[in-house]
Amino acid sequence: MSRLLDRLQREIHALDAQSLRRRRQIAETACAPEQTLTLAGATAPRTMLGFSSNDYLGLAAHPTLAKAWAEGAALYGTGSGGSHLILGHSRAHAQLEERLAGWMAPFIPEAQSLFFCTGYMANLAVLSALGGAEAVIFSESLNHASLIDGARLAKARVERYPHCDVAALDAQLAACDAPVKLIVSDAVFSMDGHIAPVAELLALAERHDAWLVIDDAHGFGVLGDTGRGVPEAMGLRSERLVLVGTLGKAAGVSGAFVAAHRTVIDYLVQRARPYIFTTAAPPAVAHALLASLTLIEGEEGAERRAQLLARIAQLRRGLKEVLLADRSAWLPESPTAIQPLIVGDNARAMRVMAQLDARGLRVGAIRPPTVPAGTARLRIALSASHSEADVTRLVDALGEALAQPLKEAA
Ligand SMILES: *Cc1c(COP(=O)(O)O)cnc(C)c1O
Repeated sequence: MSRLLDRLQREIHALDAQSLRRRRQIAETACAPEQTLTLAGATAPRTMLGFSSNDYLGLAAHPTLAKAWAEGAALYGTGSGGSHLILGHSRAHAQLEERLAGWMAPFIPEAQSLFFCTGYMANLAVLSALGGAEAVIFSESLNHASLIDGARLAKARVERYPHCDVAALDAQLAACDAPVKLIVSDAVFSMDGHIAPVAELLALAERHDAWLVIDDAHGFGVLGDTGRGVPEAMGLRSERLVLVGTLGKAAGVSGAFVAAHRTVIDYLVQRARPYIFTTAAPPAVAHALLASLTLIEGEEGAERRAQLLARIAQLRRGLKEVLLADRSAWLPESPTAIQPLIVGDNARAMRVMAQLDARGLRVGAIRPPTVPAGTARLRIALSASHSEADVTRLVDALGEALAQPLKEAA
């Protein structure tokens, strides 16, 4: 084997040795709680009940959206044919951007929106365009990888601030005399489920003349009375607010948007390289997303949000009962679909995951460095499409799995 291949192979072996090698599984069926999956290397697929999807409202395989997608393809074909600045910007994209601008108008004066192929690209675009050489980016320490990469791509200096520590951030902002400051935070922390102190962050942005960039990947569609996410849930309003929402999670399709004052959006169209130098997403995706927004803000969306809240409450009630008998694990406060059950050490997290797996249940085990050392966890993600019986099955299995390793250890 060549020297170059050999180097890569050694690194992969090292990951293997630490049980850190990531493996994919092939989904044989549509996204749903019950899914048929084939694990890498396995021959026979298995039907599993999953608790790790981001399809929070259960829209990813909704027939209305599939129909809208097909209709979009019939209207516009399959490919956009170019970037947004060179012929790829269709009427469907424009309609979607207008619709999202209207959604965000209560929270951002003169709001406009810009559609992106993915949330990852939207975050790269916002941070690299607004974070020029004269800027300083204040980055929440638990931010998503796409925000971290966006800050790396920016020419701005980057300062991290401690998790949810508004006072520390206040001091850092006060000590900074850069002409442009950006505060950047996830709205809902993806490994913990709790919500950032967004109203306080906005107050700091006002006081220190900074932008506030909020990534609402896990709040959009889910939080707020009509599903508009964290700005609606918290009643935010400011021209400093730059909101990123993703459309491949609760919205059940694909893509993302940035909503901001129209001057910010104009600027991104001119300057954001991850917007300019890529082929526009298929117009049919935008067409399907229009149907998704109608579902989310309508009666069905409200019912699905209520259903999700009921499952969250059921899971928390059930797990708290389990944890009365087991003080070695804990369930932090989280009002969202993301519910982390912290079990402490890595081996225990892996063992619990394997025990769930043996019963046909799929829950992700998250270990350092993704989360702080000593806080390995089962990351449970709930969806409106989970039934009461699904959640009961998970709580029962977790109760038994948590009890077992303790007995073995005794
Ligand atoms: C998933 C996610 C993204 C990336 O969005 P994609 O559309 O999947 O690229 C960005 N930020 C956060 C917090 C996310 O959870």
